[in-house]
Amino acid sequence: MKLPSIAWANQDSPYLLQYREGFRLLCFEGALEESFKRYHAGVFLLRMRWALLVAAVLFLLFAGLDAFSLPETVRRQTLFIRLGLIVPILVVTWLATFIRNLRGYLQLISGGCSLACGLGIVGIIWVARVHDFPLPYEGIILATVFFYFLTGLRLPAAALCGWLTFLAYLLVEVSTGLPGAVLLYNLFFLATANVIGSVGCYFLEYATRQNFLAQGLLQDLAEKDALTGLFNRRAFGERAEAAWRQALRDKQTLALVMMDVDFFKRYNDHYGHSAGDAALRAVAQVVGQHARRPMDMVARYGGEEFVGLWYGLSEAAILAILEELRAEVEGLAIAHAKSEVAPVVTISLGVAWLAPQPHQSLADALRLADVALYLAKEQGRNRVIGKRPGNLAD
Ligand code: GH3
Ligand code: MG
Ligand code: MG
Repeated sequence: MKLPSIAWANQDSPYLLQYREGFRLLCFEGALEESFKRYHAGVFLLRMRWALLVAAVLFLLFAGLDAFSLPETVRRQTLFIRLGLIVPILVVTWLATFIRNLRGYLQLISGGCSLACGLGIVGIIWVARVHDFPLPYEGIILATVFFYFLTGLRLPAAALCGWLTFLAYLLVEVSTGLPGAVLLYNLFFLATANVIGSVGCYFLEYATRQNFLAQGLLQDLAEKDALTGLFNRRAFGERAEAAWRQALRDKQTLALVMMDVDFFKRYNDHYGHSAGDAALRAVAQVVGQHARRPMDMVARYGGEEFVGLWYGLSEAAILAILEELRAEVEGLAIAHAKSEVAPVVTISLGVAWLAPQPHQSLADALRLADVALYLAKEQGRNRVIGKRPGNLAD
């Protein structure tokens, strides 16, 4: 896959790293593989449902054909396999695709169902062979194509179904004595169907993985800051508004924090812009490490400013976190000869701590945090200043 220019994407994006590393073995690194499995299940859910439905209808049609054309000796057992085993399994699996909690197990469930269909067809052939009825074996080839292209199974599951069905067919024909030359041709055709299916299924999954990476990268481009990998201001705004509404509903507290690197213009002027970029990345990493709970979030607000939201913490707890953050930035020990505060890069933080009220807005809280940041700068920088809505006049 050739992506358009990605030089301006965040270079730490897991999607980009995976894209660069490749995935010829149809496997992603760590958490990305788990998230791909969920994506795959979602993308192929509809196909899986339709495949199951179509298979059930086809088995019913074949049952109609059996009822007319099979001799008495074979008919009852064949109809039992079709209508008593395969169709119910297909219907139950189809229903299972609607149960949300089973989404994580669809490969297993649909794989089991597909295998049951394949073995069921082999069973029908066995019944016919035992009673010397010359039933064509091509149904198995149809089932094999079904495994690889229609079920939404990923390659390993589809191949397992295909080859186990192949083996079962081989056993049936050997045990019922199909002449060697015919058997050889049949097996050759069936093996060919498996190979064609595997190649097709491989490229289908490869393309699905490409789409997954491209979508993830697009989302990163839209939401993440290219330099630091933190959320950008717009993505922060959307998420923070949602957190604000939730805090309002749940009567929880929020801490809105504005952070700004001290004397950064001088840093750039003295050390150069690319050293400035490296320093910003290092500071951003420390900032990111202090917002790890699911509802916490930090973002690059612009330039050398960061913004953060921490959910449901006491004032003392958030002040402790921010003080630790400040100290860790100082502890990075990035030399800053032109700073008036310290010989290293430091950061000032202003925090607005409040329980959102209906008459307040997120913008009000951010303004309050900005006032606190201004005070932190005014009082000497490299410090944390907290504000509550009530003490705005302080
Ligand atoms: P203060 O302590 O009052 O915050 O002083 P300051 O110099 O940090 O504040 P000011 O807002 O005047 O300067 C911000 C500087 O940040 C200006 C610019 O050179 C630098 N800057 C903004 N964005 C970037 C960036 O993406 N990369 C680099 N290297 N520098 C940036
Ligand atoms: Mg600034
Ligand atoms: Mg600054």
